[in-house]
Formats: sequence, structure tokens, C-alpha cells
Amino acid sequence: MGKKRKILIVMMDGFDPSYLQASDMPNTKGMIAGGFYKTVKAMMPTVTNVNNTGICTGTAAKVHGITANSYFDLATKQEQYMDKASMLLAPTIFERGKSVGMRSALLTAKAKTQTLLRAGADILLAAEKPQDAEGSDIDWVARLGPPPDIYSAEINHWLFKAVQIVLNETDTDITYYHTTDYPMHMEPATGEMSQFHLSEFDGLLGQSLNDHPDLEVYMTADHGMNFKSRCHDLNKIMPEKGCDIFFAMSAERDPYIKHHRTFGGTAYVFLNDAGDFNRAADIIRRLDGVDGVYDRYAAAGTFDLRPDRIGDMVVTGDIDTVFGPLENAGTEELAEGFRTHGSTHESTVPLIIHNREVNFDEWHDYAYNYNVTKPIGF
Ligand SMILES: [Zn+2]
Repeated sequence: MGKKRKILIVMMDGFDPSYLQASDMPNTKGMIAGGFYKTVKAMMPTVTNVNNTGICTGTAAKVHGITANSYFDLATKQEQYMDKASMLLAPTIFERGKSVGMRSALLTAKAKTQTLLRAGADILLAAEKPQDAEGSDIDWVARLGPPPDIYSAEINHWLFKAVQIVLNETDTDITYYHTTDYPMHMEPATGEMSQFHLSEFDGLLGQSLNDHPDLEVYMTADHGMNFKSRCHDLNKIMPEKGCDIFFAMSAERDPYIKHHRTFGGTAYVFLNDAGDFNRAADIIRRLDGVDGVYDRYAAAGTFDLRPDRIGDMVVTGDIDTVFGPLENAGTEELAEGFRTHGSTHESTVPLIIHNREVNFDEWHDYAYNYNVTKPIGF
């Protein structure tokens, strides 16, 4: 038996490379200098659940099955959150760890991650809902105080202190830390809250690197972040242009509406009739800011998605353009400072591996964020 390993997976939500460049993060940058670093691709749609599941399972959505933050139930014509463990089609790193005798902890800012990625994790904590924590006797609120609001930077720091308790006081082998991207939605890298958010995080990380010199760290992000200036509501636009559709859904739709009003850079469109495709595609291609219009199978092939879990049509926006439900007009100019993700333009993210040898002959095998856990070795 070798020495017991301690593995920390950091899923820094919305950690666009610009944040790494512009922030005071000496410990993170120290890991880069002494370890493995590459910018890699996040998966489309560049929303949290798709990529968080990818990172946690080491697979593309074609394999793990989580193709958006929501899905559209054709029978009830209702949008539903894609946040249940039963929807996963691939084992989590926690389940794989269990098969080699390892214990795991899933610590997340967002409650939706606890329900989605829980399979195989022994300790579960969502800072948003500490009352639903499972698997340990630790009274998180008594130890750390009540968690800050889900719409704050501080909630991620509170959560890292919980990570430190797991690392210092339990026999957990694998700890998965998932933050909220609220600070990234609110501010670009140079913003005051953003700088505070990441330098505090980095200080806490530094403490843990000191406390555990052998700590293996696998760090990446689910997507980047950009300013957006225009939103299209395809459910309004299409009938106005004489082409009714069954429904259009933003792949970004999740319960955290203060971040992004559910707007995102990819839309799944469900048609009334397959024969409407060309007519609908013609209309959508002519809209300002549309990058791509794909049929179900072309989209599945291009973006490694499952054709049975996306729309008849997949529409992607340019760097300025998002899709989602609007109150009044079919197209709205967004307030200055609105930031979100979901398109191909938010698909570059950092990947950092510390304290684990990566074979540089395999450089090209590290192309996607979900490759981050590859060298863990099971
Ligand atoms: Zn995210």
C-alpha cells in the first residue's frame, strides 16, 4: 500500500482565463509554475451542469447525458431543471473512487450540484442549503457561522473553509469544491469584488497547500464569461415572422436567475413539424448575432451531445448575443454590464494540475476541461 493520497478537485465556476491573468493569485500561479498548465476547451453548451458533470465524470455530454441546465418535457410542455442524479449516464469520480476504496466529499455553493453529482459521495454539503448536508457529524453552521448569501463572493470562501475542515479532520480521499460564478457574472476580472473573491480564495488555497504538502490539486472551470448586449426570444420572434415553433429553451436556464435572467448563448428549439426546419433556420440565420444553426444530429456531432437530449434545432449566438424569455419585444438590448455565457465564445478555460505527474507525451490528450481528472488514475 502506498501513502494515502489527498485529492482536491477545484471546479471554479466561470473562471475565464482573464480572471487568472488579472488577479492576485500567487498560490494558484505557483501551482502553474511548478506543475501542469494548459488552456483547454469547455464543452457546449458552455453552461454549468454540462461541464460540471463532465469534470466530475471525466466524459463529454455524449457520454454523461447532461446536455443543459434544463430540459424540455415534450409531454407536459414544461421546462424542468436537469439537476437529478438519475439523469447521469456515467459514473462520478466519487463512484470510481469508491471502487478502489476511496472516500469522497462533494462541497458546492449551489444546491443543484448536490442533487446532480451526489452519486458515490460520502460527505455532501451545499453552502446554499447547509441544512441538507449529509454524511458527517460536522455541524457546518456551528463551526463556520451561517453561510453568506448565494448571491455573494463570500459564499465561496465559506465553502473553502468547509473544504479545509474536510481535509484536516476527516479521512476523505477525494474532495470536490464547486463555487458559484456570481462574482464573474457581476464583474470582469479587474472589478473590486472579483479581485477580492479570487485573492481570498487563493489565500485559503495557500493555507491548505501548506497544511498538506502532498495535496494533489486538479483545477479547471466550466465556462468563461463575456459581456452581452442583445437577447432574442425565439418564442416571440418566430410566430411574428410567420413560422410557429413548439418551444425554444435557453440551455442556461437554472434557478439562479439573478445572475443572468436565464439568458445564455445556446438555444434548443423544438419544432411543430420536422418539415419546418429549413424555413425556421432561414429566419433564425438572418437574426443579428446568430453564429450557427444546426439540426439535431449535426449539433450532436459537432458538440459531442446526445441527440435525444437536445432540440430539433440548436442555435448558437455570437459573442454579444444570448437567447431567453423576454417580457415585451422579441429582441431586447441588454443593460450595460450584463455578463453571461453559454456560447462557443466562453469555451476557453484554464486547466491546472499540481502534485501529480503528467506525461508530456500526452499533452494533446488534455484538450477539454473534463480531462482534468485523467491523471488521478482510476
Ligand atoms: Zn457555471
